[in-house]
Amino acid sequence: MNKLEYQLDLLNAINQKLRRDEKMLRLICETSNSAFLYYNYEEKKLQTIANWDHFFDFTIQDMKDLTKLYDCVEEKYAIPLREVLFIEKQGMKSQTIEIKLKDNRICIEVEVNIVYDDNGKPTDKIIRFKDVTKFNAQNDELTYMAYYDILTGLYNRNYFVRLLGEFVRRAGEENETVAVMFLDVDDFRRINDGMGIIVGDELVQLFGQYLIDLMGDNVVISHFNSDIYCIGIYSPYGARSVETIYQTIKERLKKPFKLTGGQEIYITVSVGVAEYPEAASNTLELINCAEIVMFKAKSMGKDKIQYFDGAILNDFLQNVTIENKLKEAVFSQNFIMHFQPQFRTTDRGLRGVEALIRWKDDTGDMISPAVFIPIAEKNGTIVPIGTWVIEESLRAYAEWRRRYHYPLIMSINISAIQYKQPDFIDKLLQILEKYQVSPYEIELEITESILIDDFEEITERLAILRDIGIKISLDDFGTGFSSLSYLKGLPIDTLKIDKSFIDTVITDENTRIITESIIYMVKKLGFETIAEGVETEEQFRYLNEISCDIIQGFYLGKPMPAESIEKLLANITADM
Ligand code: C2E
Ligand code: CA
Ligand code: CA
Repeated sequence: MNKLEYQLDLLNAINQKLRRDEKMLRLICETSNSAFLYYNYEEKKLQTIANWDHFFDFTIQDMKDLTKLYDCVEEKYAIPLREVLFIEKQGMKSQTIEIKLKDNRICIEVEVNIVYDDNGKPTDKIIRFKDVTKFNAQNDELTYMAYYDILTGLYNRNYFVRLLGEFVRRAGEENETVAVMFLDVDDFRRINDGMGIIVGDELVQLFGQYLIDLMGDNVVISHFNSDIYCIGIYSPYGARSVETIYQTIKERLKKPFKLTGGQEIYITVSVGVAEYPEAASNTLELINCAEIVMFKAKSMGKDKIQYFDGAILNDFLQNVTIENKLKEAVFSQNFIMHFQPQFRTTDRGLRGVEALIRWKDDTGDMISPAVFIPIAEKNGTIVPIGTWVIEESLRAYAEWRRRYHYPLIMSINISAIQYKQPDFIDKLLQILEKYQVSPYEIELEITESILIDDFEEITERLAILRDIGIKISLDDFGTGFSSLSYLKGLPIDTLKIDKSFIDTVITDENTRIITESIIYMVKKLGFETIAEGVETEEQFRYLNEISCDIIQGFYLGKPMPAESIEKLLANITADM
């Protein structure tokens, strides 16, 4: 090979390598999702490289073309962009800026790098344009999720607590007030269970979206979870007073929410209100207080607003103590049964007894079932307690029957939770069997609340019990929906007219009319009537006159221990 040939081969080889390198660099640039502007100071040449078209619909060939670049970005970025493109004037090596294009709102990260020679003179400038729109959107989403609730668009719980904390801090400095409104949708579980969680979610969303409009200066609103919303108000006066906001919401709720499935749903809310500094001095406590009084609003019949009051908090704390004691009591069975006699009105003969539980806690205090039964229903202890009540009542009953052979009806109160246990009927039959008590000798007292959930299923099971021979009695009639018309289809035997009617039956003309028509109607349906809480001779005589069948109350007999019932039976049977 002569020298020339050799040099040619070498040049070819170098050329090939250069082409490969160039191709590699081009590919790297093109697949980088970026565009580049390259400037060589010596040649004074400006050149675009890689994905320029992705960003811009114009070309740049020399310095004066850069004005096209300034023109296409949102106005506020034009001057900063120009400064960044010429950082060498300040002797800087690199800098980055984020800009947005005017029309398509692409977000671009512009990174400028300058290469200097040994004497500090700039030789090359590389400007990289990188699309960060998607990245920013993801970031926005993360930021959004940190502050907002996705379902409703309201603030989320954490951020709300922070904002409220800020209100409270400011109120401390400015001697101001902060109100918290704790909102809970009434009977939400029924909607959720009955119509499905998709409907529930949509309802939560629609109500939440409505609440967004109530936000404003010094009013922040959050979707806490499920069907719970919280409103924080700084200086709650005038247009942003609690009452005004409450009335605005109530006004909206007069109209139904229209769901995509075509359903129209009306809701009501129970609201608890607590204010800083009156109720609590710390943010979380303030929310807690509002929640506690919200429960009070629920217990007063829902669709209500309840303002904080120290007595409610005390009651609540007492309930917590009772709840703890109750759990212990279930194990140690600190309960006893009392029995209240029921008499026929016509001859004052003993018809039966109602079993009423009594609880003496360790300190010897008597705690009323009216207080602890609702707590036991909430924490589930009602189930073992209820079983114990049945067992204890039937045990006593079997003993009386063995001794006195007097036909009685043992009435036992059954809580809705207890009734809904799948093994309720089986368990009941087992206990009847154990004490050899016939189903005809017992009566179960249920309240209307049992019927709320699944009317058909519940009434079917009531019918099963009646087929066995067990009597069913509807307790506290007049305190629930109290509709006489729905009584028609009910598989019951007895109706107990609530004490609240008997209390005023003598003094109040209206009560008298209602009571008389209840008794008239109920007799037509073939049920027996029992008047509860009869305390006076006058009430007794009047009830007898209007043909009420049975009387129960302090007038003829208070709830008493089993031994006292035995004495009563001994007296009755001695006379026979
Ligand atoms: P209830 O079933 O309506 O029971 C009648 C309540 O009225 C009893 O209160 C009874 O002592 C009271 N009472 C009866 N006659 C009179 C009267 O003439 N005047 C006055 N002022 N009160 C009268 P108690 O025993 O405190 O029971 C309260 C509630 O606790 C009961 O109301 C019932 O709902 C519930 N309860 C009691 N024992 C049981 C039980 O074993 N199981 C269940 N699930 N609930 C029970
Ligand atoms: Ca009862
Ligand atoms: Ca009752």
